[in-house]
Amino acid sequence: MSTLNENERKRYMRQLMLDEIGEAGQLKLKEGKVLVVGTGGLGSASLFYLAAAGVGHLGVVDSDSVDLSNLQRQILHNTDDLGKPKIESACEKLSRLNPEIIVEGFRERLGTQNTAGIVTGFDVVIDATDNFPSRFILNESCVRTGKPFIHGGIKGFFGQVMTIIPGRGPCYRCIFRNPPEAGAVNEPPGVLGSVAGTIGTIQAAEAIKILLDVGELLSGRLLTYDALGNTFREVQVKKDPNCSVCGDLELEVG
Ligand SMILES: [Zn+2]
Repeated sequence: MSTLNENERKRYMRQLMLDEIGEAGQLKLKEGKVLVVGTGGLGSASLFYLAAAGVGHLGVVDSDSVDLSNLQRQILHNTDDLGKPKIESACEKLSRLNPEIIVEGFRERLGTQNTAGIVTGFDVVIDATDNFPSRFILNESCVRTGKPFIHGGIKGFFGQVMTIIPGRGPCYRCIFRNPPEAGAVNEPPGVLGSVAGTIGTIQAAEAIKILLDVGELLSGRLLTYDALGNTFREVQVKKDPNCSVCGDLELEVG
């Protein structure tokens, strides 16, 4: 059984004060393993908060290098990092923020071959990808391996987030059905950087709640955010019994 050292007690003082966390909860976070797929806008926000909160083992997946056009929203990376692999830049920043945790980088593009193998080593997976094919592959791997999966998406001034708990609620495919036809996805859309921050931060909170086993998750609830009106809405979503990914999973009772 691990314990907290003096530095950790001081570092996490303000969350150790919370009834939902305390020392027992902080140790759960320390033993927790969260995989964040993508170190773009969503991944930057969620990773910073997960690292700061003391999630003991963070996995980071990204195959790209830092480009000047990323910096408007991908706050893990600095102007000095241009051209550097994003994994390297991300691991450096997160270790500097919190040297008490382990940050493991995967410089890979997730496909049908490698995803399940990576996902298996973690407790929770955060979808911080920027494309539909990766998202569908991740959803399927997480459902098949029973890993909670927190989907986030952003476009323009709009964002959405939903948590998928395999066997307990709908999966990403229950709602979004099929990936767009190959070639149908054009240029990446414009986006307000702070929207990525808002959604990524909600994803971090969901992951932390899963590790702590507290609160109400966004399972079966698609939360949408519109920065122009500054409104949040919640759409109740149901499991599709004919879903090609989770249709054959028995729902847990209770
Ligand atoms: Zn499904």
